[in-house]
Amino acid sequence: MLPVLPPVASHGLAAVLTAAVLPLSGPFTPGAPGAGDPYFPNAGNGGFDVASYAISLAYTPKTRRIAATTRITATATQDLSRFDLDFAGNTIGSVTVDGAKARYRRDGGELVITPARGLPQGRTFTVAVTYRGRPGANKDPELGQTGWIRTKDGAVTLSQPVGSSTWFPVSDHPSDKALFSYAVTVPKGLRALANGEPAGIAARHGRTTYRWRSSHPMAPYLAMVAIGRFRVRDGRSPGGVRTITAVDPVLTDVNGAKFQRDTAAVTDWEARTFGRFPFRSTGGVADDVDVSYALETQNRPVYPGTTDRIILVHELAHQWFGDSVSVARWKDIWLNEGFATYAEWLWTAAHGGKSTAQRFAKLYAKPASDKAWTIKTGDPGERGMFDGFAIYDRGAMTLEALRRTVGDKAFFRVLRGWPARFAGRNAGSTDFVAFAERETGKDLDRLFDAWLFTGAKPPAPKAS
Ligand SMILES: [Zn+2]
Repeated sequence: MLPVLPPVASHGLAAVLTAAVLPLSGPFTPGAPGAGDPYFPNAGNGGFDVASYAISLAYTPKTRRIAATTRITATATQDLSRFDLDFAGNTIGSVTVDGAKARYRRDGGELVITPARGLPQGRTFTVAVTYRGRPGANKDPELGQTGWIRTKDGAVTLSQPVGSSTWFPVSDHPSDKALFSYAVTVPKGLRALANGEPAGIAARHGRTTYRWRSSHPMAPYLAMVAIGRFRVRDGRSPGGVRTITAVDPVLTDVNGAKFQRDTAAVTDWEARTFGRFPFRSTGGVADDVDVSYALETQNRPVYPGTTDRIILVHELAHQWFGDSVSVARWKDIWLNEGFATYAEWLWTAAHGGKSTAQRFAKLYAKPASDKAWTIKTGDPGERGMFDGFAIYDRGAMTLEALRRTVGDKAFFRVLRGWPARFAGRNAGSTDFVAFAERETGKDLDRLFDAWLFTGAKPPAPKAS
């Protein structure tokens, strides 16, 4: 079938327009404690839509303490009597809504805020939370540490999927993308990096404040602050994209000049392959951090010590697939990982390595009786979200199967069209299927049913 694309959720404006035509007299009710994602029922919140976060944070590595204020600007999407933010640990000093003291209580990972007066639907309001404490990482059985992670010379935040609430109050679901700005104050001699671009440095009383500001909406799990003794390079790729990289000097295996060059070259190559780079700057942070994964934090992925080029290819591909176009629900994670894996395949094939067909054939040889085929790529369950075969390999195989079915020309039209069509927004698997069908003029339901939504080995793809 050839469905018409569903309307894309707009940011804020729809809520304002709705408010103008609805009576404001109904009962004011609490916002939902979650965004409605079955994988993480308490992640995100209902009843409002965040437009921006301004995080002002001072860190003292010696005591491992932060003192912070996070200011959130949001719009009520219902008549709100109270609302939740996601926030764990730390000690709250005060909570205000539009400058007036608000009542609050903590309920597990929820910070429940009752403003002095109800917030009518369509109202834009500002919440300010002042807090201090010694934030600690979440321990994930599969991923290890996530959230605020201490390092020998500072800290770094790596928050996929739900770690951001360890260090700032947040509506922590990718469906609530927002703008971010940071003011990070550290002792003299240390540096602070974050998403977006630098917006000023100020030194006072032996401390330095680094300001960063993003100009594109971002899923909150991608919020990144890195504090340490970094050596920073700030230049431009040959293709003209501002490139800011930082290397922890204890990583003697990492060549900072090569890391900067590779980041620029990979960004340019991917822009030629996937379409215009979606943000104002690219980059990366190589840090001595005790995790076993790299993360595609927006503008500037974080690499735990290793800066192999193929890892850069993967994390930078996420700038298009995952960061600019974000999942609607966590079950859509293959739209991030399958695409980033396929980017690795394309890079390898374009640089004298195995072809994408060879990669596909090797993986497809796995016997149908293998349990690995039973996980559904398009709905793997929370525990299967980062399954190497079901999400990364089979996600990339799904794209190769699409390519074989529709041919190279149509396939690359889809691959480039997708991040352009949904830039800065959220999309799920059904959006992708509809988009691919529209772009190729083919009925692809059977193909995607077999590859994404069936817990069995799909039939071999053939050209249609
Ligand atoms: Zn990835």
